[in-house]
Amino acid sequence: MGQTQLRQWSGPGLVQGWSRADPGLTPPVGYDLGVTSPTPCVHLSAITTVKHPKKLVCEECIKTGASWVHLRTCQECGTTRCCDSSPNRHASKHAKASGHPVIASAEPGERWIYCYPDDAIAEY
Ligand SMILES: [Zn+2]
Ligand SMILES: [Zn+2]
Ligand SMILES: [Zn+2]
Repeated sequence: MGQTQLRQWSGPGLVQGWSRADPGLTPPVGYDLGVTSPTPCVHLSAITTVKHPKKLVCEECIKTGASWVHLRTCQECGTTRCCDSSPNRHASKHAKASGHPVIASAEPGERWIYCYPDDAIAEY
């Protein structure tokens, strides 16, 4: 495809790859994303306006009464689902199933976006 090979962030607290992709946590303390973040992936660079959750619930979990740990909002369709620390991992399932690569943390006070296929993270 002639694409530039993107660098992946392999900083502490994050692991590479799909299955364990969403750290389910805030970036490591002291990690200054603004300074040391590698070249953002094409998906993160394409985000100009961050979509915020309409409601602070996982829209899949509430159907079944399941619980979740953290919430993530899909930056493609604006839907909110649960993170990989949650039993059902709906956000990463949605990303895989739909091909929507980028989520934003829906947790109050957290301001970061994450790309699943590139395992890249950026603050906003
Ligand atoms: Zn990406
Ligand atoms: Zn869920
Ligand atoms: Zn989506």
